[in-house]
Amino acid sequence: MGKTLLQKVWDLHTVRQLSTGQTQLFIGLHLVHEVTSPQAFDMLRSRGWRVLFPDRTFATVDHIVPTLDQHRPFLDVLAEQMIASLERNCREYGIPLYNIDSGSQGIVHVIGPELGLTQPGLTIACGDSHTSTHGAFGAVAYGVGTSQVRDVLASQCLALEPVKVRRIKVNGSLPSGVYAKDVILEIIRRLGVKGGVGYAYEYAGDTIERMTMDERMTICNMSVEGGARVGYINPDATTFTYLEGRPFAPQGEAFERARRWWTSMASDPNAVFDDEVVLQAAEIEPTVTWGINPGQSIGISERIPSPSAPDEMAPRTEAPDFKNLPDAAFPRREGERASIAEALEFMDFRSGQPIAGTRIDVAFIGSCTNSRLSDLREAARIAKGQRVASHVKALVVPGSQSIRAAAEREGLDRIFIDAGFEWRGAGCSMCLAMNPDRLEGRQICASSSNRNFKGRQGSPTGRTLLMSPAMVAAAAIAGEVIDVRTVLQPVGATR
Ligand code: SF4
Repeated sequence: MGKTLLQKVWDLHTVRQLSTGQTQLFIGLHLVHEVTSPQAFDMLRSRGWRVLFPDRTFATVDHIVPTLDQHRPFLDVLAEQMIASLERNCREYGIPLYNIDSGSQGIVHVIGPELGLTQPGLTIACGDSHTSTHGAFGAVAYGVGTSQVRDVLASQCLALEPVKVRRIKVNGSLPSGVYAKDVILEIIRRLGVKGGVGYAYEYAGDTIERMTMDERMTICNMSVEGGARVGYINPDATTFTYLEGRPFAPQGEAFERARRWWTSMASDPNAVFDDEVVLQAAEIEPTVTWGINPGQSIGISERIPSPSAPDEMAPRTEAPDFKNLPDAAFPRREGERASIAEALEFMDFRSGQPIAGTRIDVAFIGSCTNSRLSDLREAARIAKGQRVASHVKALVVPGSQSIRAAAEREGLDRIFIDAGFEWRGAGCSMCLAMNPDRLEGRQICASSSNRNFKGRQGSPTGRTLLMSPAMVAAAAIAGEVIDVRTVLQPVGATR
């Protein structure tokens, strides 16, 4: 019987089985940032431990860095303290740090791939839930908490529960104006935010296979929003082309050897999956969240559902083609009624109301989900020659300094600035609003990020509508949520 990629990577990295039923797994790459690491380093120091593999550990600053004025010392005392602490820890323990002055700083899940650190067949850990992003390369990547950051620093291992594997196949061509973000929002909508608990998601099908690495990262990034801590895509020629020539990728003959090994790590054709779901790309339209979790979304032409009939207003939510999904893993219908009622009240929406036409106050293009060069290009196609609505504050926050520089070489910054967007430095920014980029009061934000939980964007009462970067750009200009397909300019319009 063939093996899945997850089984192969798991087996190769198993140190031993623990009496708890967990597996002690060796971690090939540990990515560190300023917010979840200070206490972990303190715990290490207090026990007199060292970092076991500093050469497998890489750090950057992203969560709390300001994106407007990045001169040191930062005006925000906490940000300055956290970054100074990371600098001290990296110096003391010999860990490379991609700092503000490096030219390579950025969101941890953006720079790992950019630098070629993220590679197929690796196990990866990072103190951020969206570490699943790295699965786009065929890595098995876990988001962890601070105490596990400490464990990985000290032992380069994690104790993990074995997971099942669900293959999610997406087949067919995506309609124009429909992006990877819409695909993953649709997957989460259909399977639910807890549907992936206990599973790794393997994304497959010809739609996924045709996707660029940027698009694959968007898909894997949000696996965790569907309850799956791990999401991955089998490595292929697209993966290898992306990696070739990157600073930490193998070079020359070593790259060819790596390519052969990476290819062998893909799931076998006769691999057996614990479950399988099939979606048709043609059925997906530009998708927007209307509620308080990423599963509460609808297509732009649909209407917000009702607590009494969750699916009445959203006819495409019929149960997908589950094979073996246990009922307990899919509490969608029962749990959802109360959640819809709570979401309607918080968002101040009515059942039956269309999401199109919702007036927005803020537009945010950024985050590890959608801040890569291709995202900025798509948004710029919409923004070119247009003006942001007078009542909207609009931000573009590139995922890394490299992306920002590349975008400036293409003139994307001028397109955004001329249209009235603010062009910022790299960082997490309004994805979680640990820096001054925050919603105020009841503001509604069209956001290309990954979470629409209450308070996620800085204001306890602020409201988040998740959507693709192109949809955010279209909303910024219209001043309200619109169907991006009505304003798409031809490909190449920004060049
Ligand atoms: S952009 Fe958001 S989700 Fe991504 S690493 Fe930063 S805070 Fe985490």
